[in-house]
This record gives sequence, C-alpha cells and structure tokens, in this order.
Amino acid sequence: MDARAKDLRIEQLRHLCRQHGLVLTPQRRAILQAVLEADDHPTAERVQAALARRRLRVSRATVFRTLESFARLGVITKACHPGSSVRYDRRTDRHHHLVCLRCERVIDIQDARLDALPVPDTRRLGFVVSDFKVQLRGICRECREQEDKT
Ligand SMILES: [Zn+2]
Ligand SMILES: [Zn+2]
Repeated sequence: MDARAKDLRIEQLRHLCRQHGLVLTPQRRAILQAVLEADDHPTAERVQAALARRRLRVSRATVFRTLESFARLGVITKACHPGSSVRYDRRTDRHHHLVCLRCERVIDIQDARLDALPVPDTRRLGFVVSDFKVQLRGICRECREQEDKT
C-alpha cells in the first residue's frame, strides 16, 4: 500500500474516531499502520510482533481489542479462514481469498464474476447478509513446490 493510500486511511480513522468520541492515540495509529503495511492478512500476534520491531510494546489483548474496534468502524475488515486465530485485512473493498490449507496463507484475488454472485435470500432464517467474500481453498504455489521437492 503506498504512502498516500496509508495517509488517507489514517485520516479516515481520525474522522471515525472523532465521530465515535474516541481518541486517535499514537498507539491506535501505530496499530493501523502495522496492518496497512502487512501484506498477508496478519493475526493480532503478527501485528504485535511488527510493533515490537518498531520498539512499541503493546499487549496482545490491547492489539486484539483495537483491531476488533477498527473492524467494527470499517477501517479494516476481518478475513475468515480455517485457522485458529482471527486474521485482519487491510482491504475494505470487495475481493476474494485463496486460502492455503497447508500454510494458512491468504491471497487476495479480484474476479468480477465472483463479485456478481447472486446472494440467496436468508430472511427466512432471520439472517441479514451485510457482505460476502468467496473463499477458494487449496494449496498455494510455495507449498506445492515444497511438496515436489520431498
Ligand atoms: Zn501454502
Ligand atoms: Zn484480503
């Protein structure tokens, strides 16, 4: 993500914080920055490690809580995947995921046909759909190459 796009997102967060009566602390700002700079849908743990590399000590619980509040504000999104911990996504636009079942890598893909999938009527189930994302699951190139070697 380029510097300009990052600045815009931080501006967006500043605006949303003001709207919701939150303070955009240097810590919150650094956490968002770390997500925007990560290119593989990081977990809270990986965001914490990225902060530690910049000598910022933030507890895992605080990182997690902050990421959850960012997702609620819509400044980042949550990527569902089969692993054990929540993965966060710097992208908020419609896109889909290739999920590697071996290494849990999550790769973004864009596909107009997937974007246009008809969403079933779930009102009967009392479920309101707010968004959707197609998850294509399989084995990534790196894992396949690893496999060929052994
Ligand atoms: Zn893989
Ligand atoms: Zn994504």
